[in-house]
Amino acid sequence: MQRTNENPATMIRREALRLGITSIGFSPVIGQEKALARFSAMIAEKRHGEMKYLETGFPARADPSMLLAGIKTIISAALCYNRPEYPAPTSGIARISRHAAIDDYHRVVHRKLEELLAFIHTIYEKPLHAVITVDSSPVLEKAWAESAGIGRTGKNTLLNITASGSYIVLGELLIDREIREETMALPNHCGACRKCIENCPTGAIVEPGKLDARRCISYLTIELKRDFTAEESRMVGNWLFGCDLCQECCPANQSRKPAPEKLFAIKEELLYLTPEAILNLTGSTFRKLFSGTPIYRIGLKRLKRNARAVMENISSGSFIQNT
Ligand code: SF4
Ligand code: SF4
Repeated sequence: MQRTNENPATMIRREALRLGITSIGFSPVIGQEKALARFSAMIAEKRHGEMKYLETGFPARADPSMLLAGIKTIISAALCYNRPEYPAPTSGIARISRHAAIDDYHRVVHRKLEELLAFIHTIYEKPLHAVITVDSSPVLEKAWAESAGIGRTGKNTLLNITASGSYIVLGELLIDREIREETMALPNHCGACRKCIENCPTGAIVEPGKLDARRCISYLTIELKRDFTAEESRMVGNWLFGCDLCQECCPANQSRKPAPEKLFAIKEELLYLTPEAILNLTGSTFRKLFSGTPIYRIGLKRLKRNARAVMENISSGSFIQNT
């Protein structure tokens, strides 16, 4: 039983917007056969590289009730992090992906979903059960976001939200309440466009919607734990952490609404670092500069690995100038 006659979806949507969540949607727990097949193919073809954690958790991806008994709805929430003041690339500077030059999105999204859940509790008379996940559980997040009607996945494999493009982060609230509203199937925004495929400097988008992480700069600089091979080192180009090239060229990202500044303020001090400055960092200066950002998660050793590659690439000028 709920406390009012209003549709809970309407109330939750209103509260989500008040909290600064860009887009929210509600999906029943349905079969995700296509997404599961794509996921299995990625593992079978080893396109996930050395992200071993993706090889586990398949049963929970297929059946979200393994994450929450009695689950009825998956609420997908997207937060836009695009800031208009993010600068154009500068010669000699190590580039940092937009999502890394701000507060760690895991914490921001988790906090917003906690606030939203506290509100949802007030709607119902009886206690409910819920699980919040922000990259922390095996969940097919883009598939659920599509089912919830908040976006479509483009040829660059990223979810595109109508109001704000693909510079978004996702979180999910799994909940044992049936929350429904009418959703319209969104059109795919890509059409005949192939810009992301053509602008990826390493050929990591091997087919529309199919990524080989082993060639992706984001994977190499963020996920890969070991030292680079010579080829991997060259592929990194001038990117110190992450890569935005397949989003920067995307027409769906032009003139979209920016993120609320108080949620994701740009950290100016991270935007103009040289690779030499990174190589001179000590444990305490690394902590001071990067604590609370996604970059802190990879640690100083891997960041210096990335910086060495960027420094060599900039000085040799041999990489594809991905600016
Ligand atoms: S993040 Fe960079 S390397 Fe990876 S697919 Fe996009 S453009 Fe290519
Ligand atoms: S660049 Fe073009 S093809 Fe790629 S995701 Fe954007 S709209 Fe789709």
